[in-house]
Amino acid sequence: MRNKHDPFLAATRPCVAGGSRRRACMRPTRRHGSVAALIAVVLLPTTPLSAQTTALRCGRLIDGISDEARQDVTVIVRDGRVAELRDGTAVPDGVDRALDMRGGTCLPGMMDLHTHLLIKPDGPVSELDRSSADRALDGLHAAQKMLHAGFTTLRNPGDFDTHYAMVSVKRSIAAGEHPGPRIFVAPHALGPTGGHGDLNTLAPDAAIQTPTRIVNGVDEIRAMIREQVKYGADWIKVMATGGVMSAGDDPTHTAYIDEEMWAAVDETHRLGRRITVHAIGTEGLKQAVAAGVNSVEHGILIDDEAIEMMKARGTWLIPTIYVLNYVVEEGPALGYPEASVAKGRVLMETRDDNVRRAIEAGVKIAFGSDTIFPHEWAAREFAHLVRLGMSPMEAIRTATYNAAQVLGIEDEVGTLQPGMVADIIAVGGNPLDDITELEQVDFVMKDGQIIKDARPRT
Ligand SMILES: [Zn+2]
Repeated sequence: MRNKHDPFLAATRPCVAGGSRRRACMRPTRRHGSVAALIAVVLLPTTPLSAQTTALRCGRLIDGISDEARQDVTVIVRDGRVAELRDGTAVPDGVDRALDMRGGTCLPGMMDLHTHLLIKPDGPVSELDRSSADRALDGLHAAQKMLHAGFTTLRNPGDFDTHYAMVSVKRSIAAGEHPGPRIFVAPHALGPTGGHGDLNTLAPDAAIQTPTRIVNGVDEIRAMIREQVKYGADWIKVMATGGVMSAGDDPTHTAYIDEEMWAAVDETHRLGRRITVHAIGTEGLKQAVAAGVNSVEHGILIDDEAIEMMKARGTWLIPTIYVLNYVVEEGPALGYPEASVAKGRVLMETRDDNVRRAIEAGVKIAFGSDTIFPHEWAAREFAHLVRLGMSPMEAIRTATYNAAQVLGIEDEVGTLQPGMVADIIAVGGNPLDDITELEQVDFVMKDGQIIKDARPRT
């Protein structure tokens, strides 16, 4: 009796009916499987027999890493991966399906490193009317909206999650039970009593669990990180300073003492995870960078010393620019607390100069939108990155190769090269001429599967 895990059998793909161009498929038996597969490998060294092959005929291709776009390239996709990039857009022989994108631009699937999928932008501020199950369903819906907007990979750093709903969303998508982007989760942000994420406006005897995990002192911080990892955290998120959308705390205040921040970084890395911090104030930002965090969210009050520290340590900045404009411009009409809108207004005065200096100085920057607004608007961030000094190509790279490096998956996704996972999007025009083209994604493929095809028909 042969072992059913025989590698030759495992490598033999099942026969698929139909497909006139497909060569005869292998039907290995238990007794002869290895021999049949070996013969097939010898005779047909390159083409997996039953793999569906798709050709994307792209008028322009941005591969996510190069400085220049390539004109007229055909991307051959097979087995969920990029098999080949061919010059020219002639329909290749032997493909099952050819898609005409000659008028547009193909790019790697985009990545957003700062989403809040469980936040319902039009929902009530109290958040008391949704159970954990409601939130998971809302989160799945939001994840799918983002996938349709061209974001094939997300990082969700802390959310309005009283339990571990976001981990369930991630797992159900990863298991193939629902279509959706691949998701990296920091289930809850960790913050101190009274800090950003605590419910500072409630009466002392109001017993309501905050979505942020309120922890103080080295022991509590370490224990909470262990719990996050126990229940599925890919990342740990810590509030290093006060914030905008929370009442009663000051964005310039540092949340933790050095000992606490160092413990958070040490515990996270000891458990093989990565850590990011919410940091608006200058001192809290520097404290976190000195402690060795992998990335910093917002960084609104970054100064020259912090810029040099981040460059020296290779710390990533995810500037989340658009969200502050959203709070200030749309907040009053949405009923946001006046205190939050006012905090946003003050920060906006210096934000542009600070972020522009960080970009100019060469701090490593990756894309994050901070979707407390409608999730499908995430790509609005690109226009702000360009406004503050990036070339359109650099802005695109923040959401492709750079973001993949932050997540540690740059060998698999984030660029269009042979062997990479086939996460591919297409837009109708040229985002190098007009970056807002990325706000209208026509075509989305993830893992080689077509998720959306809304190309205009001629
Ligand atoms: Zn956020």
